[in-house]
Amino acid sequence: MAAYNIAVISGDGIGVEIVREARRALDAAAAKEGFSLKYNEFLMGGAAIDAVGVPLPDETLEGAKNADAVLFGAIGGTKWDNLPRHLRPESGLLALRKGLDAFANLRPVQVFDALIDASTLKADVVRGVDLLVVRELVGGIYFGEPKGREGGKAFNTMVYTEREVERIAHIAFKAALKRRRKVCSVDKANVLDVSQLWRETVSRVAQEYPTVELSHMYVDNAAMQLVRAPKQFDVIVTGNLFGDILSDEASMISGSIGLLPSSSQGVRGGIFEPIHGSAPDIAGQGIANPLATILSAAMLCEHALGEIGAARRIENAVRTALEQGYRTPDIASYGAVKRCSTEEMGAVVVKLINESK
Ligand code: NAD
Repeated sequence: MAAYNIAVISGDGIGVEIVREARRALDAAAAKEGFSLKYNEFLMGGAAIDAVGVPLPDETLEGAKNADAVLFGAIGGTKWDNLPRHLRPESGLLALRKGLDAFANLRPVQVFDALIDASTLKADVVRGVDLLVVRELVGGIYFGEPKGREGGKAFNTMVYTEREVERIAHIAFKAALKRRRKVCSVDKANVLDVSQLWRETVSRVAQEYPTVELSHMYVDNAAMQLVRAPKQFDVIVTGNLFGDILSDEASMISGSIGLLPSSSQGVRGGIFEPIHGSAPDIAGQGIANPLATILSAAMLCEHALGEIGAARRIENAVRTALEQGYRTPDIASYGAVKRCSTEEMGAVVVKLINESK
């Protein structure tokens, strides 16, 4: 029987509540598929600051490096907002991504028919949207040198090497092979030298994937096309800054922050987490939507463990739970609903996984 080690970082706020439900879904899917999971829990963010004084203890980074994958909830909260930047909870997450060289951030955006009215866009525009944003995560202007301030000016540097672009392009083309075989590379090659290198490099990598159709789009047009006609996209690949903005824009097509999973992957393993934060306003009330984290667990099964059957069981259970009307309060305004708590939603998903053929 295959056995995997999962590093669990629940974090702060609703993190503990949602990760608990994702673990239950993982266990149910593993039992069905005949593999086992061993969980090791680690501290990060505010919880780590309170316990040991730093947002990413060495033990957490080591544990994450030694695991087959990291299941992560969320970090942050007002309690830690006034600390110096390097001691804030968010620095822990950035350091973890850097430490694992998790260079590829994948954010699938799928619109569930049962929640079609949750989107602020018209139902006709969003029905059937199924796209994946692949964002380069550890390079570009967020990390480029030099950066700083001098008197009355401030500067950052957008820099990419061919190697950095090649490896993210390979991730995008490989993902497209398992989807509708279309990659749209987003840049600003009409203005930026770094984007010209990006475009040339992606085009060169594309020659290794002759069955995938490659297109290029300027980022300003992409921002517009995402809300005008999002169904045209399959896989979007882009750099760190453009990806930060476009992936948030794309996530809102579905209209529901509590439903969207993500992964940040490096050479092996990866960090699997919901796109939302620690939601301090609802923490401890048992009403957080656990589905984004449960869907992140499905991505973990598929991308880090290669357990595709388990991933499909979890995804199907989530879809069915929504079709059957189960709703945590954040999505309770849409359709005939059965209101439920975080734990009840988790239990429904587990039951549906257990019943799956
Ligand atoms: P947030 O995503 O935590 O919350 C935004 C709004 O969405 C809130 O009203 C919240 O109640 C709601 N929400 C979020 N997730 C939900 C869920 N699963 N179910 C139901 N409702 C949900 O963003 P914020 O309020 O801007 O940030 C709160 C804290 O989280 C901050 O400290 C921020 O730095 C941190 N943060 C962490 C991450 C991360 O850990 N990856 C990401 C974003 C923000």
